[in-house]
Amino acid sequence: MLTNDTLAKWDRETFFHPSTHLAQHARGEAPSRIVTGGEGCYITDRDGTKLLDAFAGLYCVNVGYGRREIAEAIAAQARELSYYHAYVGHGTEASITLAKMILDRAPAHMSKVYFGLGGSDANETNVKLVWYMNNILGRPEKKKIISRWRGYHGSGLVTGSLTGLELFHKKFDLPLPQVKHTEAPYYFRRADPAMTEAEFSAHCAARLEEMILAEGPETVAAFIGEPALGTGGLVPPPAGYWAAIEAVLAKYDVMLIADEVVTGFGRLGDMWGSEFYGMKPDIITIAKGLTSAYAPLSGSIVSERVWKVLEQGTDEFGAIGHGWTYSAHPIGAAAGVANLKLIDDLDLIGNLRRVAPVLQAGLREALGGHAHVGDIRGEGLLQAIEFVEDREARTFFDPARKVGPQVAAAMLRRGVIARAMPQGDIIGFAPPFSLTEDEAGRIVEATAGAVRDVLG
Ligand code: PMP
Repeated sequence: MLTNDTLAKWDRETFFHPSTHLAQHARGEAPSRIVTGGEGCYITDRDGTKLLDAFAGLYCVNVGYGRREIAEAIAAQARELSYYHAYVGHGTEASITLAKMILDRAPAHMSKVYFGLGGSDANETNVKLVWYMNNILGRPEKKKIISRWRGYHGSGLVTGSLTGLELFHKKFDLPLPQVKHTEAPYYFRRADPAMTEAEFSAHCAARLEEMILAEGPETVAAFIGEPALGTGGLVPPPAGYWAAIEAVLAKYDVMLIADEVVTGFGRLGDMWGSEFYGMKPDIITIAKGLTSAYAPLSGSIVSERVWKVLEQGTDEFGAIGHGWTYSAHPIGAAAGVANLKLIDDLDLIGNLRRVAPVLQAGLREALGGHAHVGDIRGEGLLQAIEFVEDREARTFFDPARKVGPQVAAAMLRRGVIARAMPQGDIIGFAPPFSLTEDEAGRIVEATAGAVRDVLG
């Protein structure tokens, strides 16, 4: 068996990690962990440390680790048929069954699902479908996509452009010129403290309308948003936000893409974030919770209205020129079928609905009065704490102080993984749906202790 030292050496010498400080990692200065096992809400590393994963990996292991049912479905699929492609109408029992299961759960106006591998490529597909559609509809100038600052939609060329975080743009020559960003629905950070939530929603919609008019409505094709902001800060929208936004989109014939990579399949307590907030998207992006990350798989669910135009396009121009080798990979599909079945059989969304308020109430009770806790927020098991320098003035710490990362590091020393979100001093909680009340209590205890360690 390899020693930890050998693995750490090979890791530094050969492994180019994503979203990592490369120089520090190569010099062995950055924390790194070799993960060996997972069971329920816990992961274990090679040193034998067991950690409560309150972020479910990257908010994707929704059913928890170590589910035998999914592992066995994957193994059975690999034995039976490890791969066949989905081009020119080919399918497998797993991929067809999964498409049917997704559509059975999707909002009624949705029609078909296109399968990809991850959230980024699914959003790449969505932008291409919107462009293709507008060409078929004879309006080739209608191509711009409006996203939000702090939105997260992936890290490819177009999807990294859609992402509204500076780190993903700077030095990569992004965003691409077809992508614009409007104001984030971030009520806690509103400029005018006197605004009500409804007023702030109206303000965000007005800003969007100004942008559409400034760009020219004939050039704006789609608006993309996560029902509740994820990586950009874990921010549920203010009351009335989506209704106000959708009214503007309808006025200028702009399509809505709901990026449900995080919120899809139950994380907010409803099957869809769109359902939770009463949105009516033209396209829904899915990934993460589709397989609980037991295998890579994503999808674009398109509405009947979109589908009709795509059909018209292929009647006019032939087969759609868009496909991945691994679209609808049978192993991913088998994982997806077993995963969605498990969510139903164990009523994991029901469990989430019971335990999510326990976690939030615990955080509020432990930290609601803390001088540097500005906001405790979230819906379902997508929750966050935002730290402030001064509560009354709502001023923030100098990012150089790294308050968020320090709290996350202190939590880790207490055996709990929370995520320090990349922009702002925000700690995120998105544990598996199988979280128990005891585990929620452990998260609260570790958070409260860590906040005391760092901020007194
Ligand atoms: N959309 C959202 C809302 C996401 O949170 C993510 C990943 N965090 C993505 C898209 C991109 O997914 P992937 O990393 O699988 O490409």
